[in-house]
Amino acid sequence: MYRKELIDILLEHPMTLQELSERLDEPAKDVADDLHHLQKSLRHEPYRLEIRPARCRKCGFVFQADKMTKPGKCPQCRGTWIQAPEVVIHEQ
Ligand SMILES: [Zn+2]
Repeated sequence: MYRKELIDILLEHPMTLQELSERLDEPAKDVADDLHHLQKSLRHEPYRLEIRPARCRKCGFVFQADKMTKPGKCPQCRGTWIQAPEVVIHEQ
């Protein structure tokens, strides 16, 4: 049920972990766990979960793609103006 809800919410509609956490009224940590499970379980289904990596809005540095939580600081310019990672599901 919950899994279906996640797919419905994220289908072609990118959201940050924080936005999802508010929408589902679940702690961000739990949502991240659920998304990791979902990502694995979608392997044999016509959906693909994509994580758009966090990016520094100051210098353009792109963070690691598999992290869903927002980094605090840019390792390159030390800036804190960070675009949070977004999660989206595509139907293939
Ligand atoms: Zn930077």
